[in-house]
Amino acid sequence: MTTAYVRPRSLREALDTRAAHPDWMVLAGGTDLMVTANHKPEPAGILDLWRLEELCFIRADRDKVSIGAGATWWEVENHAVIGNRLTPLAAAAREIGALQIQARGTLGGNVGTSSPVGDSLPALLALDAEIEVASVRGRRRIPYSTYCTGYRTTLLAADELIVAAHLPLPGSTTSLMWRKVGTRRAQSISKVMGAAAITVDGGTVVSARIAFGAIANRPLRLEAIEAAVVGQRIGSQAAEAARMAMRSSITPIDDVRSTASYRREVAENLVARFFGQRGMIRRAAS
Ligand SMILES: Cc1cc2nc3c(=O)[nH]c(=O)nc-3n(C[C@H](O)[C@H](O)[C@H](O)COP(=O)(O)OP(=O)(O)OC[C@H]3O[C@@H](n4cnc5c(N)ncnc54)[C@H](O)[C@@H]3O)c2cc1C
Repeated sequence: MTTAYVRPRSLREALDTRAAHPDWMVLAGGTDLMVTANHKPEPAGILDLWRLEELCFIRADRDKVSIGAGATWWEVENHAVIGNRLTPLAAAAREIGALQIQARGTLGGNVGTSSPVGDSLPALLALDAEIEVASVRGRRRIPYSTYCTGYRTTLLAADELIVAAHLPLPGSTTSLMWRKVGTRRAQSISKVMGAAAITVDGGTVVSARIAFGAIANRPLRLEAIEAAVVGQRIGSQAAEAARMAMRSSITPIDDVRSTASYRREVAENLVARFFGQRGMIRRAAS
């Protein structure tokens, strides 16, 4: 059997191909897909989106940044506005694989797989990202907090493609945090990673978005923690409230990379450090 192959010149052509062949493999950088390609049946066809111009952009406006699905992690981490204002995403990009993977792996691929250990995903959650998807039927935007529905399952329909992620720029009273814990600094899949956007007024937490990966079957916003810290003094009081809420709200996965009990302990320590504001503060410059 020969595998059909289309490398579209426009998004329109890509969407037409996707609509006609929803069973074909959608290929971007291939850094997720190629790992298991030899162990899977050959696809009926390949829709190759690599470097499709309409997906390869990063646009910064006054109040938001839009990142095309085809933007690579190298492009994300080296974008000035992302580096200054969306620091958890820049930091996550810097820790995805190593340079070779960052030059090839794309935002659309990380969102497409939506693995519980996808490093950008807690950052997208904490930064309140919306995912824009398109098909021949039109476009729609889905908050990433609802996009991933289970273990590597998403709301993407069979005829849709991921087009972009849209991220509002946080204000100057919001502190942004990111931390990945793995076995080493590069080429390491996360044991636990977390991101936070914490807004403080007069020393008191007024709102927070907390998201972790590798602690469940999918990346998660931790709303119980977000509720528990509101009204707490930033520092040890908020840190303890966050730690207690983390303890009662997660069921970490137990797999080859780490035990559930290690993940639980690390997740509790990380969230306490986010609110203790020790070590990993990354302010959102305005
Ligand atoms: C050595 C190595 C190290 C790695 N380290 C890390 C790491 O530290 N952290 C991490 O998070 N990941 C890591 N990865 C995984 C991978 O690099 C990332 O998930 C990357 O973002 C995938 O992007 P890609 O363009 O290569 O995706 P692909 O492999 O091309 O595609 C991945 C999935 O997304 C779908 N897809 C891609 N683009 C679209 C689109 N526009 N519309 C619809 N569906 C789409 C594909 O159909 C496929 O299902 C690593 C991989 C390797 C091989």
